[in-house]
Amino acid sequence: MSATLPQFKAHFARIDRLTQINSLIDWDQQTYMPSGAAVARAEQSATLSELIHELYTGEKTAQLLTQCESELAGQDPDSDDVRLVAVARRNYDRKTKLPTELVAEIARHTALSQELWVRARARNDFDAFAPALEKMMDLARQQAEHLGYKSHIYDALIDQYEPGTTQADVAAMFAVIKPQLIALTRAIADSGRQVDDRVIYGEFATDRQRALTLDILKAIGYDLQRGRQDEAAHPFCTNFSRDDVRITTRFAPDYLGQSIYASMHEAGHAMYEQGSPVAYEATPLSGGASLGVHESQSRLWENLVGRSRAFSRYLFPHLQQAFPAAFVNADVESYYRAVNKVQPSLIRVEADEVTYNLHILLRFELECDLLTGSLAVEDLPDAWDAKMQEYLGITPHTDGEGCLQDIHWAGGLIGYFPTYSIGNLLSGQLWHAITQALPDLDAQIEHGEFTPLLAWLREHVHGYGNKFLPRELVPKATGEPLNSRYYLDYLHAKYKDIYGI
Ligand code: ZN
Repeated sequence: MSATLPQFKAHFARIDRLTQINSLIDWDQQTYMPSGAAVARAEQSATLSELIHELYTGEKTAQLLTQCESELAGQDPDSDDVRLVAVARRNYDRKTKLPTELVAEIARHTALSQELWVRARARNDFDAFAPALEKMMDLARQQAEHLGYKSHIYDALIDQYEPGTTQADVAAMFAVIKPQLIALTRAIADSGRQVDDRVIYGEFATDRQRALTLDILKAIGYDLQRGRQDEAAHPFCTNFSRDDVRITTRFAPDYLGQSIYASMHEAGHAMYEQGSPVAYEATPLSGGASLGVHESQSRLWENLVGRSRAFSRYLFPHLQQAFPAAFVNADVESYYRAVNKVQPSLIRVEADEVTYNLHILLRFELECDLLTGSLAVEDLPDAWDAKMQEYLGITPHTDGEGCLQDIHWAGGLIGYFPTYSIGNLLSGQLWHAITQALPDLDAQIEHGEFTPLLAWLREHVHGYGNKFLPRELVPKATGEPLNSRYYLDYLHAKYKDIYGI
């Protein structure tokens, strides 16, 4: 036991609750805040952020950490208490390694660079954004040098999003999946088979879509007593405790493929947070293990469940009831195929399951090269277009649908993209483990029984909160380290069937 631990927990609970309040005002900003409040809200958020940073990096945190570490020395390294202090130490070290001036400069430059990016993207004017990107890369290099790394400068940056993962891990992962994904994409194109997806285009009243998505969310196990769904320009999930986890979605009145899968994606994130243990509430152990593990949950519900044949069979009668005109003459199989159409496209967020990871690979390779300086910022548009041609066989007409499409680099999120692919691969690996444990899973999904699936995720993933690093958690849940085989097997089986290859 540690006599200081109750004090330690109280200190971190204060920090956590301030962070929760900061998330709450951010949720408000993205959903209901009147636009005139933007300046006041920015000040409120900056004040809270400053307070949180001061508390986290202050003398009191340092004293409590040292005291608890000495009191817990020699205890079970996997106990909640030891892990709690270890996670807080990792966060503290990362926050205190960066000089305050650099943190402030990054915050200032991020605000400016995002504004320049919005304008540059609208005008397809990469040159207008290039100097800001150049500076962002320079700041990222400084950040990485302060944080420290063993082999590659990228290691320091990706570690912020996927703790314990290195540039070499990601490069090895892509070395395996790249040739197979390119080959599968080409085989689908060469199959000559066209998927007719007209069934998901038409007139779909927004209020009916809203009711339908809420029914789906309830059915799959998102607890609406501890959550809610609103609309926002970009779907997201946020939480202010395990008992208040909110999601947003968006509705296209002429296209049904957006709201259902965006809602299921965000609910996957939300159910992970709702499943965080009560005992971890308001401690550094609450929430998820990493962005990659988080994405495995969202992609699992969106794709492995949502775009499955079994789920399509479950959903179809609900679709016929909500949109009789559109579905009266349709059949389940054509709906299933429509929501699984594969087509190389320019925009990452619209990409299908087969081509999605090639979009991430391209970004990973380019950001590594920008960071090390082997690619000059001014040459980015050409490098982007060349890789799009090589991997997907298409070329953007403008930089807006090319290297200016994502906000990540403008927002200083360098080293973030690979977490999307890690999440995809892990979703396939988890699915394999789940189908071993639940042999009747397909029949359960078809009959709307999602409780066994959610219970498995609660026990093997959600219930660990943020206690373990991804490389510790993945073998616990699936019996082995992250292995791309399962996701590739899943893709091959599914799309060979759909495209007859
Ligand atoms: Zn996500």
